[in-house]
Amino acid sequence: MDRYISSGSGWLLMAVVLLMGGILVGCGDSGPSSSDAEGHTVLTADGINDGATPMVGQQTKCPVCGEPIKSEVHTESKEERVYFDKQECLEKWKQNPQKYKQKLMDQDLKWAPPPGQA
Ligand SMILES: [Zn+2]
Repeated sequence: MDRYISSGSGWLLMAVVLLMGGILVGCGDSGPSSSDAEGHTVLTADGINDGATPMVGQQTKCPVCGEPIKSEVHTESKEERVYFDKQECLEKWKQNPQKYKQKLMDQDLKWAPPPGQA
């Protein structure tokens, strides 16, 4: 009977140790909310309110290199605006828009024209 009890409490102790370890690891990991890796708010083309019509409203990334877009780097393609992260990428787009357009369209979650723009 004694042996049974002591081996039982051994398991209990191990369970407690594992639980404590799990709590400690969990504490270090959990952040308060989900923003991007560096804690920046992600810029979307829709969020840039300067009167232009973005080609892809959900655009957040440069279609050339995949970096986050900047509001001041853009070009018009068929009167719709495409955003980039830097001038260099804009130039690459101008040289071969078809090559990068699919990457841009992949960012369009709805793939629908903006309302009121027929
Ligand atoms: Zn880029």
